[in-house]
Amino acid sequence: MIEFKNVSKKYGDNPAVKDINFKVEEGEFFVIIGPSGCGKTTTLKMINRLIPLTTGYIYFKEKPVSDFPLYEMRWDIGYVLQQIALFPHMTIKENIAQVPEMKKWSDKDIDARVDELLEMVGLAPEEYRSRIPSELSGGEKQRVGVVRALAADPPVILMDEPFSALDPISREKLQDDLLELQKKIKKTIVFVTHDIQEALKMGDRICLLNAGSVEQIGTPEEFLSEPKNDFVKDFIGDIDSHMLKQSTAGDIVRNAPEIAEGDEDGLPEVIHEADMYQLFKYFSEHEKLVIVDEKRRKLLKREDMFKYLSNDEGGDHL
Ligand code: ADP
Ligand code: MG
Repeated sequence: MIEFKNVSKKYGDNPAVKDINFKVEEGEFFVIIGPSGCGKTTTLKMINRLIPLTTGYIYFKEKPVSDFPLYEMRWDIGYVLQQIALFPHMTIKENIAQVPEMKKWSDKDIDARVDELLEMVGLAPEEYRSRIPSELSGGEKQRVGVVRALAADPPVILMDEPFSALDPISREKLQDDLLELQKKIKKTIVFVTHDIQEALKMGDRICLLNAGSVEQIGTPEEFLSEPKNDFVKDFIGDIDSHMLKQSTAGDIVRNAPEIAEGDEDGLPEVIHEADMYQLFKYFSEHEKLVIVDEKRRKLLKREDMFKYLSNDEGGDHL
């Protein structure tokens, strides 16, 4: 869907992105991560030509992005910013309807789409559609920012640290909602963050940048079990390697409620002694597992494993 081939970007003489290569598959949730200033935003904005590249090629649907008219890039690629840039004097409906308006959808279709999108993110349409942005909380504005990018149903969505300005509770809720939404809409998403926990939780694959170069590209499981070098190890340092080696499935679900026999049938059942590396293998194909011991069955979600493995959750929230 999107491919970078030997892409570099210089601002004047300063290299911001250095010869990067990757391919984002259709329907993939692809995370770009790295420290501040490593070139994440530059990389993202080159995709929809908000920033021109210096050398190399970026392909969108097998064609160089430079072959597409600019307006098509803006219409076919949704874009969500860190700082919610809603138009302050327009209603929520008018904000969401921007691209459908430009595409000259009928009023009826626009009304239906706006309501559908608001409902998708839990904002009652009759209550929210006529409000203006200042009448919304930060989390609500960010939800509108996300659905606005979805309005005309673009195949690709770019998100630049969309949740980083939110408090931890709203952030976690929006992450969960976006994961749920993605299961339904299956868009190609390129998502920028500097938060490794967010990357592990959200990404099908992660691309770690350092000073404009790619350090590693792989699944969350690969980052944890096979970090390529010391930079990668340091970057995921929050995930305690001792915990990674010692923990079992049973540890993670220790405080989780039991589920009844017959509930969640069809999911793989995994013994509670299974270690993290075994869990990684299962989670590469399933979002949820049933963890069993002699007497009990408990549900384990992939995102809960990553929460457990990261230090600041303390490992015992379940
Ligand atoms: P990130 O999003 O990872 O924080 P950026 O892509 O914004 O990084 O920036 C990468 C590098 O390019 C940084 O060193 C930044 O200072 C520089 N940079 C970004 N935008 C510009 C610009 N418009 N002009 C000059 N330098 C820039
Ligand atoms: Mg940035």
